[in-house]
Amino acid sequence: MITVTFLGAVRTVTGSMHLVETGDTRLLLDCGLFQGRRADARRINSEFPFPPSSIDAVLLSHAHLDHCGNLPTLVRQGFGGKILCTPATRDLAALILRDSAEIQHQDVNFANKARARQGQPPLQPLYTIDDAEQAIRRLRPVPYHQTFQVGPATGVFYDAGHILGSAVTVLTVEGRTIVFSGDLGRTAAPIIRDPEFPPAADLLIMEATYGDRRHEPFERGGRKLADVVRGTVRRGGTILIPAFAVGRTQDITYTLHRLQDGGKIPAVPTFVDSPMATDATAIFRQHPEVFDAETLARLSRGDPFGGRDIRYVRSVEESKELNARHDPFIVVATSGMCESGRILHHLRHHVGDPQSSLVFVAFQAADTLGRRLVDGVTPVRIFDESYEVRLQVHRIESYSAHADRDELVAWVGRMPRVGQICLVHGEEQQCMALARHLGRRGIKTIVPQRGQRVTV
Ligand SMILES: [Zn+2]
Repeated sequence: MITVTFLGAVRTVTGSMHLVETGDTRLLLDCGLFQGRRADARRINSEFPFPPSSIDAVLLSHAHLDHCGNLPTLVRQGFGGKILCTPATRDLAALILRDSAEIQHQDVNFANKARARQGQPPLQPLYTIDDAEQAIRRLRPVPYHQTFQVGPATGVFYDAGHILGSAVTVLTVEGRTIVFSGDLGRTAAPIIRDPEFPPAADLLIMEATYGDRRHEPFERGGRKLADVVRGTVRRGGTILIPAFAVGRTQDITYTLHRLQDGGKIPAVPTFVDSPMATDATAIFRQHPEVFDAETLARLSRGDPFGGRDIRYVRSVEESKELNARHDPFIVVATSGMCESGRILHHLRHHVGDPQSSLVFVAFQAADTLGRRLVDGVTPVRIFDESYEVRLQVHRIESYSAHADRDELVAWVGRMPRVGQICLVHGEEQQCMALARHLGRRGIKTIVPQRGQRVTV
């Protein structure tokens, strides 16, 4: 018998975590950071509904912060087992956990300055860089399709096609099988392979981020990007692309490289202005074993993320020098929603220039500078100063790393047999819509509440 308790990313998209129990063995699927209002996040991330020392192993689906970001807290509170994941996930998770520890440190320092002025005692960070290093030491790589044993359970990872190294986890105990989709990718995504189809499952735990939406095909995104680049270069402007350091930046540099190679855009200097994105791209280069056929073919002709016109910028000095350039160029910089990072310096410099373009390639959450720019707000505040927005703002929505409704339904349809389905990792409305959609095809689903248990 296997019991699953749904503990995180339940009727929401953050803090993925599910407890799997069989006999005396307790496993965690993911241990993600919950991100939301500060006080809620602090409590949810620091209070586990089980003793961390009672967990035998963690099976990590992929390296996004909302799936791996609370592992250092788990280790800090007594977890002493292995964290199993694919080799690419191990390398990306190490990068992301170190960065997360640094952000927590900076956040607490900032908050403590205000608390000191109010005579309040200082806060401790959720975890330190040392806790992150302890968690990283527990990561154990297992390649796709290779079986591993955890207690009485046999596990195997399939390619989820979501980000580099992302996995669908299949666990079998005494002839009963549960499948955890993790985050599921899309067909024909750049760089990585398409999602694989797992074997028959008695219980499928499936993500539903876009349970009620349909995406544009990737190819359309490439065409739009080419149009914007050509138009902006003709006007003599600069192209700014805010992007997350892991995943989206590589999708964009790969696409730009491909467009240049195919003569779809002119040769124009391109700068990836982010130390974190530079490190993440280095990890991509170390894992050609997960590339799709097209990327492997490009690799045989040179660096798919490089090329003579693409430069990776680490130093602050080199980043500042970009402001002195007057020829057209492209800059890809963090953060993806313009809330922090070097993109703000470039924005400040070019926001008033009607010849330049700003291209959003990801969803912009409410209350971010990115969202205000997408919504056409002007003036906007950047570094506490007001700026009129005169550059052209474009939005390309093709680059989502999540399967849409049709792709989720098709993926389930390709599995040989599915018993129960539990929908997680989606806002309530998205989960309910997908449940209705699957229901019309005769597939029964549950949208669990936090703490709900299911037995197979
Ligand atoms: Zn993800």
